[in-house]
Amino acid sequence: MNGSFEQAAEQAWQWLETVARFSETQDPQHDGVTRQCATPEHRATLDALTAWMRELGMSVREDNGANLIGRHASANPDARTLLLGSHQDTVPNGGKYDGIMGVILPLALVKYLRDNGIELPFHLDVVAFSDEEGSRFSSTLLGSKVLAGTFDSAMLDATDDAGVTLKQALEAFGCRPERIAEDRYAAEEVIAFLEIHIEQGPQLELADLPVGVVSAITGIERHQLTVHGLAGHAGTVPMQVRQDALVGAAGVIQLVDALCRETEELVGVVGKIDNAPNGVNVIPQTTTLSIELRSPRDEIRRRARETLRERIEASLAARRLTFDQTLTYEQSAVRCSEWLCGELQGAVRDSGISPRVLFSGAGHDGLAMHSLCDIGMLFLRCEGGVSHHPGEAIKPQDLTAAVEVLTHVCHRLARRHDTA
Ligand SMILES: [Zn+2]
Repeated sequence: MNGSFEQAAEQAWQWLETVARFSETQDPQHDGVTRQCATPEHRATLDALTAWMRELGMSVREDNGANLIGRHASANPDARTLLLGSHQDTVPNGGKYDGIMGVILPLALVKYLRDNGIELPFHLDVVAFSDEEGSRFSSTLLGSKVLAGTFDSAMLDATDDAGVTLKQALEAFGCRPERIAEDRYAAEEVIAFLEIHIEQGPQLELADLPVGVVSAITGIERHQLTVHGLAGHAGTVPMQVRQDALVGAAGVIQLVDALCRETEELVGVVGKIDNAPNGVNVIPQTTTLSIELRSPRDEIRRRARETLRERIEASLAARRLTFDQTLTYEQSAVRCSEWLCGELQGAVRDSGISPRVLFSGAGHDGLAMHSLCDIGMLFLRCEGGVSHHPGEAIKPQDLTAAVEVLTHVCHRLARRHDTA
């Protein structure tokens, strides 16, 4: 009997409910899901995924970075491979969908293809990346770096809160970390990496759309900026001659906010502030702020950095304040591949949905996979844009839409393959 998109999505929903129980915290409604790398919860998740993959006729293996990879093989053994997947881990007290949904939906796709006897001229490898969030070992993108061949073995010495090293944890999980370098994919065997993830923002919900196509994963820069003023008695120094560092810093916060509001594809925040001496009756002497800017286009972000610096200089000089500024972190944006972005938009249209393109303001496994192959991302609407929180929620019918879109993506890639 043929299966429908709805049936495949219903199965995905049940699988997601099951995996949500593999959590250090036991009440997903209140405490959310906590599932970290190389833990009993990770093991339970991989065991369940393995059983489901085998039921779907897939071949399954685990690599030395604790990734699980299931293959839905093409009849042509020499075919190339489309990688699909996301991370199995969560942040502490995270939600039921961030990450794992991008593993389960490709399995629902395989179910649909299988139920309907649809053959593909390429292999589908579905990956459950071991660790993307980096909550246990501060090892962000661990799983995807292993597959991309960019894992730095120095990371193996990183420790968790209990003093266990990543190397020890992987060994206890059944991995051989000294052989991680062998687990990379060869670039020529991979067509692309495609990830499905909840949006983690409100745009699709506002547009009343179940899915959206990601154009890029944001670039990020962070600065530490210290404003230098002059401390003094809060009652005796006349207002006209004060050099109040905190008032200067307040101006900087406004400038960051205003620049981001007036610039397309730029967001920013001053999230952290330290003030000294921080006394109720003392004019602030020194105020230190963090400034973070994010954009899917590096040129926009770098231009904004220059503009912001000019405005800050002028604003602080007018108050006879000085400052120093240090760039503390910079991560370039990663563009999703244009051809795949185009095919995804086509597949969304094929599914009767208006294609919407948006950028990702959060980091994803694609940041690491980009050094191996072309990447693409499909976002799924999430309620209120909430993520990294027990309140993460999605609509069952959006899973149906996603399975349909993925099916059309496969048809489109198969046609490209035939004409290549
Ligand atoms: Zn995620």
